[in-house]
Amino acid sequence: MSEATQIVAIDGPAGAGKSTVARRVAEQLGFAFLDTGAMYRAATWRALRHAVDLDDPQALAASTEAMDLAMEETPDGQRVLVDGEDVTQAIRTPETTRLIFKLDQNSAVRRTLVELQRRFGERQPTVAEGRDIGTVVFPRAKCKIFLDASLECRTRRRAEQLMRAGLPVDLEKLRDEIHERDEKSRNRTDSPLRPAEDAVPVDSSGMTVDEVVAELARLARERL
Ligand code: C5P
Repeated sequence: MSEATQIVAIDGPAGAGKSTVARRVAEQLGFAFLDTGAMYRAATWRALRHAVDLDDPQALAASTEAMDLAMEETPDGQRVLVDGEDVTQAIRTPETTRLIFKLDQNSAVRRTLVELQRRFGERQPTVAEGRDIGTVVFPRAKCKIFLDASLECRTRRRAEQLMRAGLPVDLEKLRDEIHERDEKSRNRTDSPLRPAEDAVPVDSSGMTVDEVVAELARLARERL
């Protein structure tokens, strides 16, 4: 990564509000926005579409490498295209979400996606959000934020997101899934979810989206 590249790295568990907030911080700063979770989702969707054996690490790596991934910002939000097919909704279904862990622990899959993420960040000033942005993808980013919130709060937010997308919600099941997904992210060997040593912790539990956006934009301006 070149020294001149301006990166805001936002990491944290599921439902902490990273996507919503990171997109708006990017808008305020005039930076590009990179949703790396969408990339792991897209790779998972592609493996399912091609009926790849999810227990075959090499096949998963090959599928991810062969993926033609496009992420476009539109006035209605981000559109994700895999091999030319619009998968914006499909990558957020509970089935895809539940199976991401088959890919996110695969080092070859991670290498392919991290490489794409670094290239994106090298091309333009970027706000990137994920689980390993400050620790692995952009370890030299000048502004790193670890965005967290209570499990209850994260469950409620994710439920609202799903309901807006017209998907059914079982709160208790959702809470267990979020908890389980985070535990898997925290405990995996390759790129576990953890704050970088120089990350600023922000707990968004009692904060509105506007407040979190303002705080993160302030931190970014201070540090970049
Ligand atoms: O943020 P989102 O919920 O869309 O991420 C989906 C999943 O992708 C996460 O639960 C995690 O398993 C994986 N992920 C990852 N590393 C990232 C971003 C997401 O392993 N940088």
